[in-house]
Amino acid sequence: MDTTTAVPGIETIDSPSRRTLPYHLMKHPGDDLVDRFLEAFGRVLEFTDYKPLLDSYRRSNTKCNRCAVACPVLQASGDPKDIPCYRTNLLLGIYERYFTLDGWLKSRFSNAFELTEEIIFEMGDIFYRCTACRRCTRVCPLGFDHGLITRLGRYVLSLVDIVPKALQVSVQEQLEGETHNTSKVPRAGLLDVLEFLAEEMEEMLGVELEFPTDREDRDYVFFCAVSDYLMEPDTLMGNAAVLYASGDWDRWTIGLCNYDGINYGLFYSDWHLENIIKQLVSEVDRLRGRNILIGECGHASRAAHDFIPTFMGSKAPPVLNFMEYTLDCLRKGKITLDPDVITERVTYHDPCNIARSGWIVEQPREILRSFVPDFVEMTPRGSDNLCCGGGGGLVSVDEIHEFRMDIAGRMKAEQLRQTGAEIVVAPCANCKKQLKELVEYYDIPCRVAGLHDLILQSIVIPGGISPMERKERADLFTI
Ligand code: SF4
Ligand code: SF4
Repeated sequence: MDTTTAVPGIETIDSPSRRTLPYHLMKHPGDDLVDRFLEAFGRVLEFTDYKPLLDSYRRSNTKCNRCAVACPVLQASGDPKDIPCYRTNLLLGIYERYFTLDGWLKSRFSNAFELTEEIIFEMGDIFYRCTACRRCTRVCPLGFDHGLITRLGRYVLSLVDIVPKALQVSVQEQLEGETHNTSKVPRAGLLDVLEFLAEEMEEMLGVELEFPTDREDRDYVFFCAVSDYLMEPDTLMGNAAVLYASGDWDRWTIGLCNYDGINYGLFYSDWHLENIIKQLVSEVDRLRGRNILIGECGHASRAAHDFIPTFMGSKAPPVLNFMEYTLDCLRKGKITLDPDVITERVTYHDPCNIARSGWIVEQPREILRSFVPDFVEMTPRGSDNLCCGGGGGLVSVDEIHEFRMDIAGRMKAEQLRQTGAEIVVAPCANCKKQLKELVEYYDIPCRVAGLHDLILQSIVIPGGISPMERKERADLFTI
């Protein structure tokens, strides 16, 4: 069967990374996909704690359909295959049939369903139509976590090499490539970018500075989504401006052996999640850093914040999202933000990974309200907010752009339009990419920016050019 046509955006990869597959799945028993899938599922169950979860789910299955109403993908597509329970029940059905005693007994005495290649390919499709936003979980009276089941389904699929190429290639480069980062930015390239950013900041802010790299014994080792070094210079300069203005310039560093906070293992593979975490922590250890400071990236923040303690135990260094650091500086009076610079209407998009699945909802709002006079909320907001439509790694899969625009992001686009905002703040590399594509696709007159992009415009730099003077210069330049 030709999987590249059967599953849009998903392809079977004859990958050299097989040698790194977990649970020693190096010996493939022939080409039989069904057998390989069941072997992979069995290995996952043997080496992880998913079994009790699946047992509890299959015993408490009810059909109240609250999750269906909460799911933005289903609401936009109307396709029964996007019903959260449908996807979950598919995996639970396989689990029950092949990995439980009663399921096995039932199969002896009745016409039990048999797993087929077609069912596996269907899973390859529908498990990558869920953005793992976990909005459904918030409304389920039984606490069913369909996002987690999506992830488990993807994990098993990845073990039989059904995984979006974009995710697989990025992870492989991060763990096995020469650069150890997902965008293949070499060390010399990073240093060039940092030199360029320092020159830009000197021109814009009127202060001379040099980005600290590979410094030991610092309070903060900084990691952002490495793509930000190429795509989001204003966010990075905003981060740097806070560190400079607060007087903390000598307290942070960027490591030169590993400078990528991205962890796509969070989207599809426990094994890759763990190994990327270990790689990140080893860089902090090498530099004898005391805290991990994660830039504007939702999934990178959640992966580090939630899973470094899981995998590193008592050796886990504390993890901070940059917005927490900035808020702390603001509350302590270490930085000042000029409230006269940002005059446009601004709204805030909550990245699922740090809001609904995380701990960051009010912090960015407190910062925004301190210097943005016309701040408006989306409806719903905070932990109930809608996913951008590119969550769960979907934003990286260019082959499903149409699906991300027409279905997964459709309600988000409408929600954004209704705010009338001219700027939407999205403090996450993945959300920014998806939202930029959405506003263009739906022709919404709204600019997508990071929180620190706006801070860069408004921050008072001791001994530097004032925010209003910078604004006047920028306006002149624009004219
Ligand atoms: S996690 Fe999000 S996209 Fe997936 S089923 Fe639940 S609400 Fe829908
Ligand atoms: S909300 Fe929970 S209980 Fe209701 S149908 Fe969905 S998974 Fe089942």
